[in-house]
Amino acid sequence: MKVTVIGGGTMGNGIAHVFAQNGHQVDLVDVKQEFLDRAMGTIEKNLGRQVKKEAITQEEATATLGRLNPTTDLNAAADSDLVIEAVFESYEVKRDIFSKLDGICKPGAVLASNTSSISLTKIAACTKRPQDVIGMHFMNPVPVMKLVEVICGQATGPDTLAKVTRWSQDLGKVPVTVQDYPGFISNRVLMPMINEAVYCLMEGVADREAIDTVMKLGMAHPMGPLTLADFIGLDVCLDIMEVLHEGFGDGKYRPCPLLRRMVDAGHLGRKSGKGFYDYA
Ligand code: NAD
Repeated sequence: MKVTVIGGGTMGNGIAHVFAQNGHQVDLVDVKQEFLDRAMGTIEKNLGRQVKKEAITQEEATATLGRLNPTTDLNAAADSDLVIEAVFESYEVKRDIFSKLDGICKPGAVLASNTSSISLTKIAACTKRPQDVIGMHFMNPVPVMKLVEVICGQATGPDTLAKVTRWSQDLGKVPVTVQDYPGFISNRVLMPMINEAVYCLMEGVADREAIDTVMKLGMAHPMGPLTLADFIGLDVCLDIMEVLHEGFGDGKYRPCPLLRRMVDAGHLGRKSGKGFYDYA
């Protein structure tokens, strides 16, 4: 099968990595050569780690790299069976890409988005083939995490769902099918928990370490919610709470004022060096 992954950032390079490792020819598309070089460097480093752990052989790592075609030309998607978009979480950017793909891709190609929160129904409506559009929501880091949340838009066809389910299983992942409502399942359940943890901190119910410890040791979560929020990015958490709040029109999803204040201050978590914790 021929696959095109659009966007070589955190998620895109991981998605390209797993498809190439499973024997597929993969185009990796980004807007600048330097972004492609960085993505290929990350994939090479991650493959090297797998070789060191003896999860794969050096020959497999070399063959995986040989199946990857980094390019700035979106037309590479013309003969692909599956296209996965993993660019910035912006409806406008995704709309532009999906309307271009509609003109480029062969009939019957599956057009997937890795969006965390944008409606698949809305993305599909940018094309004249909404039956072929679907969400494939991989988790970070893609080569490690087993879940693929498969999101059906209003018009997604049963054939598209069946193909994506089979392809996800062939990668050794576990696909879970969900319908297109704000936050799907993953973020609808996770983000209100994080938001509530921020309320607990704001109200002085407990300090950050205590809140994280309760959820780690009491609920067997591998990471406390405030540590996890720092890892995800507080701006991303706020954006997703806004999507839930607006999408359902329900006050229970209102973003915590402390979360908003931290984003306003530029304290975005790990990526900015400061969030609920400090990262020197
Ligand atoms: P990122 O910022 O790390 O990477 C985005 C990449 O897309 C960049 O390399 C950028 O140059 C490229 N890009 C932008 N516009 C483009 C265009 N027109 N054509 C080709 N490439 C373009 O973002 P990310 O964290 O990898 O997120 C990508 C998508 O995956 C988003 O929709 C996000 O919501 C979703 N997602 C992210 C995570 C996560 O943990 N980071 C988890 C699940 C889903």
